[in-house]
Amino acid sequence: MKHDIHRLPIDLRPADGRFGSGPSKVRTSALIGLASTGSTYLGTSHRRDGVRSVVHAIRAGLSELYGLPDGFEVLLGNGGATAFWDAASFGLIERRSEHLVFGEFSGKFASVTTAAPHLDDPLVIESPPGTHPAAVADESVDAYALTENETSTGVAMALNRPVGDGLVLVDATSSAGTLPEDAESFDAYYFSPQKAFGSEGGLWLALVSPAGLARIDALRSRWAPASLDLGIALDNSRKDQTYNTPALATLYLLADQITWMIDAGGLEAAAARGSAAASIVYGWADRSEIASPFVTDRSIRSHTIATIDIDDRIDAGQLTAVLRAEGIVDIEAYRKLGRNQVRIAMFPNIDHDDLSRLTLAIEWAAGHLAGA
Ligand SMILES: *Cc1c(COP(=O)(O)O)cnc(C)c1O
Repeated sequence: MKHDIHRLPIDLRPADGRFGSGPSKVRTSALIGLASTGSTYLGTSHRRDGVRSVVHAIRAGLSELYGLPDGFEVLLGNGGATAFWDAASFGLIERRSEHLVFGEFSGKFASVTTAAPHLDDPLVIESPPGTHPAAVADESVDAYALTENETSTGVAMALNRPVGDGLVLVDATSSAGTLPEDAESFDAYYFSPQKAFGSEGGLWLALVSPAGLARIDALRSRWAPASLDLGIALDNSRKDQTYNTPALATLYLLADQITWMIDAGGLEAAAARGSAAASIVYGWADRSEIASPFVTDRSIRSHTIATIDIDDRIDAGQLTAVLRAEGIVDIEAYRKLGRNQVRIAMFPNIDHDDLSRLTLAIEWAAGHLAGA
């Protein structure tokens, strides 16, 4: 490849080349804040006030950001959203769950409950990548598993509570922090902080409704591995701690980001910025000769993760390799989707100028490959 000769022109070069869907761009100012804690934070006990005050700020900050009504609580634990699926199979699903499966992440939760010997086989409603299915109320179901943003395909789904009293469990890992939510529409709204919250992985957070808390309490008598026991997680969360040792850097960066989001106008403002980011990226792809949005229904195009098909004459793998050599990283398609595609995160930390430059850089790289 000749890209070492044809360097990306300076005016097409994003100031920050991180466009990955997670781990995602972390603000340098948050890192500087973390470094400036010096000897007072990292390396101190997570059971003491220094760290517990950070956990307290996270729990209070998320309640404020989401305007959670009385009776809702913010829970947290180690292991990320993936561990939360395992925990939910013990502590939130009583007998049978319904799963809307439309990509890799929604499919993984369905696999957890299918394999769980203590649960009935779930009701799985599937639709092809690039679309999403609709929830169907079912009397045998006590928990509905929805995914607000399917990170593997770039499909967003509006939250609608099915009729009946099943709990609504929402995987919001790549949408949390970018959209205002009506607390009526979920019982557990859970996510990991290395996506829109621009922190590190290894942690899960869940906004849980009174009905969700009641279910956790009712299932305390069911055996669960202690590290996946939501009753234990609830008791520890109420003390502003986790059951076992968390990564303190993750907590710091998350607390910093929540403050930053509140100061920037909260979720309404975040949603407006997300729409503007989406018009930059999808607007370009709609106009481009070499690119087109993978999700054809505009109303379900994600405003945090854009999946953009690349014309077959250009190999998207080569395209992303050229850009990677120029410092533009992690826009490769989700590997299991298997399309000639790029995937671009538009999280709140990603500057709109950089998104515009990225679209120009992609055109430049495509032109470069076509001429190569
Ligand atoms: C990233 C992601 C996950 C997995 O998160 P981990 O922190 O790796 O467990 C789950 N669901 C969605 C929608 C995601 O984007």
